[in-house]
Amino acid sequence: MKLHEYQSKQIFSRFGIPVPQGIVVENATEARNAAREIGLPVVIKAQVLVGGRGKAGGVKIARTLEEAEAQAEHILNLTIKGLPVRKVLVDPAAEILSEIYLGVVIDRTQRRAVLMASAAGGVDIEEVAATAPEKIVRVPIDPFVGLPDYLARDVAVSIGLARDHWNEFIRIARGLAAVFVANDASLAEINPLAVVSNDGGSRLLALDGKMVIDDNALFRHPELAAMRDPDEESEAERKARNADLSFVSLDGDIGCLVNGAGLAMATLDIIQHFGGRPANFLDVAGGARAEKVAAALRIVLSDPKVKVVLFNIFGGITRCDEVARGIIQALEEVKVNVPMVARITGTNKEEGDRILASAHLITANSAAEAAQKAVALARAAHARS
Ligand code: GDP
Ligand code: MN
Repeated sequence: MKLHEYQSKQIFSRFGIPVPQGIVVENATEARNAAREIGLPVVIKAQVLVGGRGKAGGVKIARTLEEAEAQAEHILNLTIKGLPVRKVLVDPAAEILSEIYLGVVIDRTQRRAVLMASAAGGVDIEEVAATAPEKIVRVPIDPFVGLPDYLARDVAVSIGLARDHWNEFIRIARGLAAVFVANDASLAEINPLAVVSNDGGSRLLALDGKMVIDDNALFRHPELAAMRDPDEESEAERKARNADLSFVSLDGDIGCLVNGAGLAMATLDIIQHFGGRPANFLDVAGGARAEKVAAALRIVLSDPKVKVVLFNIFGGITRCDEVARGIIQALEEVKVNVPMVARITGTNKEEGDRILASAHLITANSAAEAAQKAVALARAAHARS
């Protein structure tokens, strides 16, 4: 789950990272009032869950109250990479002397978090990463030790930061590493961490903030879970999450209802093997109770691309006849007008098959047979249309 800039910066602030004291608003009049309260100039920033807002026209400096109002009005009418702008952050504008990139991410090969930093921060960091990766310094963080001062100082030196900012940088880098761990993040990023002018001197200030929280850890962060922006996910994804289903939408035409992630992946592979294309990855998990199957069916059928539904279910502790009854009960609630192929196997398979066949499902004795039948039905549906 992604957090908005303003949410990330609030969290950063609690971990001792200096951020501008801004105000989040939802309309142009509020933006004008916020600008008056903060003092001009201000920067008006679209709060949408995508990167590259600056390049898309979602970050503008306003030098008068009229400008603040007009810019906010303009930005609130933008759609950036498909997402509508519903809020803007009004921040005091900083005078930027240089821009640093600072981030903490998971490095899967090293199996730990790494701190990444670059003197070439700002809106072109992706290009720097692609064309001049040597300009990005990476330091693995030992999970038992955390980020010690000396490592953070090494990074400050490596990116050529002026000595008088080292102590600030160490505090910020350690703060960001702590933010990452304490919030179960998979990404915590400041870009730019700017050197800004300050009373004739200069100081470091986190002008942007980005965090991605590990969904599987949200249960222990209810305050973060409550920050979820519904615009982030599609209607189907939201329904699936609320029903506790793992769901990933794909671009084919065979809707798959499967129990267990491993079996779901194998099902996608076998469909592909027989020349078909799965419309989704859907794991109903556990016992495939009727209400869960019904929720899953509704989600799969809400996709107009779906021409066939394929059940691939293993009845282990939950017996096949129970699963079959769950499917039948679900079919009483959900109207289905595409063919359905079912392969269920395991305890009480025969009884399960009998129940499904009586409800006009096409049954199969193996995953391969089921996939071939589903692929053929999908082809036939396309030939008809
Ligand atoms: P992003 O494009 O979504 O990453 O949004 P950012 O918050 O990083 O803003 C993009 C760019 O706008 C930054 O890299 C800065 O160059 C510029 N910017 C952001 N805030 C300020 C500010 O307070 N003053 C000035 N002068 N520029 C800013
Ligand atoms: Mn940025």
